[in-house]
Amino acid sequence: MYSLQKYNGLRTRHICPNCERPNQFTYYVSEEGEVLNKTIGRCNREEKCGYHKTPRMYFSENPELKTTSSSFFQAKLIKPRPTNFISMDVLRGSMNIHQENKFFIFLSNLFDYKTANDLSKKYNIGTHNSIWPGATVFWQVDSNDKIRTGKIIDYSTEGSRIKKPYSRVNWVHTTNKEFNLSQCLFGAHLLNTSNNTIALCESEKTAVIASIYIPQFIWLATGGKSNFSKKLLEDLRNRNVILYPDYKCYEDWKEKSEALRTICNFQVSSLLERSTSTKWAPIFLKTSRAPSRLCLTRGSQLSIKLGQNPIFLSLRNVALVATTSLTKSSLPKGALVASL
Ligand SMILES: [Zn+2]
Repeated sequence: MYSLQKYNGLRTRHICPNCERPNQFTYYVSEEGEVLNKTIGRCNREEKCGYHKTPRMYFSENPELKTTSSSFFQAKLIKPRPTNFISMDVLRGSMNIHQENKFFIFLSNLFDYKTANDLSKKYNIGTHNSIWPGATVFWQVDSNDKIRTGKIIDYSTEGSRIKKPYSRVNWVHTTNKEFNLSQCLFGAHLLNTSNNTIALCESEKTAVIASIYIPQFIWLATGGKSNFSKKLLEDLRNRNVILYPDYKCYEDWKEKSEALRTICNFQVSSLLERSTSTKWAPIFLKTSRAPSRLCLTRGSQLSIKLGQNPIFLSLRNVALVATTSLTKSSLPKGALVASL
């Protein structure tokens, strides 16, 4: 069985075979501490380099080496431990103390109390007071309604994460040392609720907020860069999926999604890369408020004010369209089109 070499000073961190930076590369080593190969490991520069080659990839490229490695066969003989789950009572217990939850207060101010409440129920957003008072739990509930874990994040009431003096992130399952964790996508329990297009972003907060602005999609979150993996994305098999990568992660997600195209055809949104914002929320806000078209059908009355004089138009066989993107075929039969 191979695993990433534990950190024990700089002598355990090597030159990356991809970006060639020193002290950045972690080798996979056997249980006896033997290095498998100097190209098999993970670069620490996750965003800038992203090189990660696993023993599995190495052996599938070099099948003749399998016979020489006894450890490899040992690894195959070890039965995988079953996944552990968290009981529904723990989740329920976290759902009734919202008035203290700073992220809930943020959502109430951004939308209103009812919307914040609906979002909490829809996404299983709980409160966790025992490490940081008023912290948030984003429960990971899978498509079989089993609870994989809860990610605890401490936000301010302005909705920003508390990162000083350290990033306040923790996990519900860590109290149990024997817990065998298998994560799922945040929001995976919503997958069976409709056949709608899936929108996948990185942060739980983005998914929750976007579900209000762009409600026609089922919004899910990976919860971290390293969770953009075959194992987690398997749940999206044969669905229509649009990816909304974080700022500067467009190329990375595009490349990874192309490698996973046997699961489904991913579309990747480059909107954030092309905008002046580095966060999704302001973009969603703009998109959802801009009327895409104004379409008035037969019998509607429209008043347009030109200077001080209102002009009334009575629309009989007219559809008035305030966009150039519509084609004639999408209009009611016999309609006349006037451009504004
Ligand atoms: Zn590298």
